Amino acid sequence: MADPDMSSQSGGHDVELFVETPDYDLICTICQGVLRCPVRAACHHIFCKKCILQWLKRHQTCPCCRKPVNQSLIFVMFKLSKVIGRLKIKCKNKIRGCPHTLALSEQYCHSMSCLFELIPCPYQGCRAQLLRRDLDAHARHCEHWSQPCHMGCGTVLSHRTQAKHNCYRQLRHEYEARQRNHRAIAAALQRKMRRMQSTMADMKRQIGLICESLEVMDELEEVEEEDLGETSGSFSSSTSSS
Ligand SMILES: [Zn+2]
Ligand SMILES: [Zn+2]
Ligand SMILES: [Zn+2]
Ligand SMILES: [Zn+2]
Ligand SMILES: [Zn+2]
Repeated sequence: MADPDMSSQSGGHDVELFVETPDYDLICTICQGVLRCPVRAACHHIFCKKCILQWLKRHQTCPCCRKPVNQSLIFVMFKLSKVIGRLKIKCKNKIRGCPHTLALSEQYCHSMSCLFELIPCPYQGCRAQLLRRDLDAHARHCEHWSQPCHMGCGTVLSHRTQAKHNCYRQLRHEYEARQRNHRAIAAALQRKMRRMQSTMADMKRQIGLICESLEVMDELEEVEEEDLGETSGSFSSSTSSS
């Protein structure tokens, strides 16, 4: 009855997934799976939406009763869809060890957190596929692992560079070196100032000495002038007298 091409384009849920064998009424005649997004044709036969739309591309009649089917007269069965959504299934990762059973409608949510879901390693360039629960262990050794430095310096680290990277220590060394440098400059400035102060004291002393010697010279000159004045006076008086 089913089109040979249809088996590879199965729209329904795998019967094996269900904890209890689903009721025969819930099976799609086209794909033999449990109805996914069930729709009802005018003849009251029910199929997965995807299955019947595929079927109608090549046929104009119902695959069950051969009555003509009008594509615009098929209706989604929301209530039935909800009933099917409540059916209990085993996690699709049961063969990998997941022990959970859940409602069919929770399948997507569960697969997002299922520890037995096979996922690709999230680090760029790594081709490893692994179970979600093994991700942490893998990340500790993955050669493509990379992460920005948690100190916020902006460096992207790999396992190889992480062990050597210590931007905090480096920053502290730089800071300490700068402080040593500043202290050296301050000490040099102080030495220079002391030298200038002693030079100034020397100069003051010398100026004092010069002033003293100038005063002595002035006094001497005054004395000499006085002597000279007396001599010339006596001289002139002597000439006038003669
Ligand atoms: Zn189907
Ligand atoms: Zn029919
Ligand atoms: Zn699971
Ligand atoms: Zn990896
Ligand atoms: Zn850093």
